[in-house]
Amino acid sequence: MSKNKKKALGLSTTIFISLLVGAVFGIILHYLIPESDFKTNVIIEGVLYVCGQGFIRLMQMLVVPLVFCSLVCGSMAIGDTKTLGKVGVKTILFYIATTAMAVSIALLTAYAIDPGLGLDMDKIQVAEVSQAAASPTIADTLLNIIPKNPVNAMANGDMLPIIVFALFVGVMLAKLGHKTDVVANFFSQFNDVMMEMTNTVMKLAPLGVFCLISRTFATVGFSAFLPMLKYMGCVVLALVIQCFGVYQILLFVFTRLNPFKFIKKFLPVMGFAFSTATSNATIPMSIDTLTKKMGVSKQISSFTIPLGATINMDGTSIMQGVAVVFIAQAFGIELTLGNLATVVLTATIASIGTAGVPSVGLVTLAMVLTSVGLPTEGIALIMGIDRILDMIRTAVNITGDAVCTTIVCHQEGSLDKEVFNKD
Ligand code: ASP
Repeated sequence: MSKNKKKALGLSTTIFISLLVGAVFGIILHYLIPESDFKTNVIIEGVLYVCGQGFIRLMQMLVVPLVFCSLVCGSMAIGDTKTLGKVGVKTILFYIATTAMAVSIALLTAYAIDPGLGLDMDKIQVAEVSQAAASPTIADTLLNIIPKNPVNAMANGDMLPIIVFALFVGVMLAKLGHKTDVVANFFSQFNDVMMEMTNTVMKLAPLGVFCLISRTFATVGFSAFLPMLKYMGCVVLALVIQCFGVYQILLFVFTRLNPFKFIKKFLPVMGFAFSTATSNATIPMSIDTLTKKMGVSKQISSFTIPLGATINMDGTSIMQGVAVVFIAQAFGIELTLGNLATVVLTATIASIGTAGVPSVGLVTLAMVLTSVGLPTEGIALIMGIDRILDMIRTAVNITGDAVCTTIVCHQEGSLDKEVFNKD
């Protein structure tokens, strides 16, 4: 047992070391190593790209089967639809409330800093904006929750329909009892296989994180950021307030647990989300950490974490709140108080419609901008530097899911405080 603990701690530390060493290596590559075919094609687009993306793919490979099996097992174990409904409603309300809070903090921070005033538009790299055209409507976002074809949803990795179908299967298995023992055992054993596979793949995390981070820094460097520093600073400040202020206060108020312990134990997951910029790929690691290190019930986390990775994007909505003010100021458009209320509402809905993969927050930003009559061309202003912000906001996105899960678990009486408090 203590050997296992040592191993787990060792992995967290190595992930951090790789994050730092990767960033430094990437910056050295960008600034100190002269351009050459070898540098670009062999190191950056060869080794770093293949190893980094290979690692993300390994994690992504786990997501659908892991989420499906653990959700079936979780809902089957909870059994009655009443408890499941109670956990579901509580979680969704919590997710919506924290997102609305996040947008409000973003708007307040943005108006305190005024990131778009006095902007030198000539210095900003304007990117192609065609990607932003396909923003989903609110009606479609809601309807897409029901899978027309569950197999299709799994093939496409569409989380919400997968969640709905898995919950259904689990509840039906509980209802049918012993008649369906074989199927129930199959899911629970397959679930064990997936958890073991997660542990194995996670051993590669330090290498994957190193390659992902160094490639990002080797490609972007710092030059694109400079004219946008005020906007970036504003987004980062709001993200820090949400992550280390709001979440930790909520955690303490609702559970009396030590927020510092929470942050310390959850940091490796944040580091992983940061380097991959995808909430979805972080699901296995998040469930694993919450279960093993924080004493959170797996039945609950296997439901709330994938749900959160799909509908709860507080970090993304913060970027959208700041972006609205930035774009309005850059285009010289005044926003009324009514407009700002609309932004809180639409950014919260956009968060539900944002998939947990890189850069989708920019796509759903179109929906928020249109709701207050701002030009979607504004997205082009921030697209060039969005990659690095995407990484930070993804870390915040998944922290919000974990805090909410811990609180809901505590309220349901299924949090093992001894495990949480253990060093
Ligand atoms: N990359 C984010 C996530 O996966 C979504 C986004 O903001 O683009 O959580």
